Amino acid sequence: MSGKSDAAFTAIVDQTIAAAEAGAGFMAGFQAVKGGTMRGFSELRGPQGHVVAEYDLRAARGEIEPCPHLGRSPQPMYWSAHEPGRLCCARCHDRAQSALAGTEEDRRCDFCGRVEEAGQVYASAASRAAVVVRAPDGRVTAAGPLILRWGLCRACNASSSEGYRG
Ligand SMILES: [Zn+2]
Ligand SMILES: [Zn+2]
Repeated sequence: MSGKSDAAFTAIVDQTIAAAEAGAGFMAGFQAVKGGTMRGFSELRGPQGHVVAEYDLRAARGEIEPCPHLGRSPQPMYWSAHEPGRLCCARCHDRAQSALAGTEEDRRCDFCGRVEEAGQVYASAASRAAVVVRAPDGRVTAAGPLILRWGLCRACNASSSEGYRG
């Protein structure tokens, strides 16, 4: 291992940590604005679990197109259930969010398709950790945190909760 590649590896690790911090900052801000509780991935049930599974299925099939700004250096990546074929950088994600205007489409449940008439859908976000891996041959793979977003109608949101009795 040369000193030069050690420096390069340190740089990638630093970038990944910065990306992880940016993702954690997004999640903290999201909770501050939307309220609700933080839970682990394994606690996501019912419709919420289905939305996350849909991401995994599409990713496995190669059906998710990253925006052109998601280059090789790690940064937070955003996926929204209402646009399931896209993976966005922070800026493209912010632009898509600021375009939301409470239209019928914006209030459509990402699980059952029902339009929530009163107010908006219940917004949720989940994040997966940033990773950096150095293979034995020295190749480095790094990815920023993945942030999944979706909105559910009242009924689907309620049935995703542990205490739900339907
Ligand atoms: Zn972008
Ligand atoms: Zn629903």
